[in-house]
Amino acid sequence: MTKEEKQNFKKIIDEQIQELSIEIVSIRKALYPERGKGPSDKVAHLNFKLDQSIHIQRYEESTKRLNRLKYAYLKIDTPEYGVCKECEEEISLQRLKLMPESVYCVNCMNELGL
Ligand SMILES: [Zn+2]
Repeated sequence: MTKEEKQNFKKIIDEQIQELSIEIVSIRKALYPERGKGPSDKVAHLNFKLDQSIHIQRYEESTKRLNRLKYAYLKIDTPEYGVCKECEEEISLQRLKLMPESVYCVNCMNELGL
């Protein structure tokens, strides 16, 4: 990977970290409504509970991804970035563009069942 490509990925990762952080804040707000703004009746309460489970799932996925992105951001200036942890081959740029936090190449990811 060239220096320019790394710079580019750094920017992509940084942007995704910002976006995800904003999303996490909004999920957290939905999870913990302000006093007096919670569900007002039984039906609303049921829907609220249903939404909560969706929000919790999204929240967990988002925070996990955020951690992976932060890790990638720390690693980007090292030779380890963009190299598969398993087979030590370079991860394709196409894959990194979709998931800049990738630490495995497609083949290893499939083999490891991730
Ligand atoms: Zn691999």
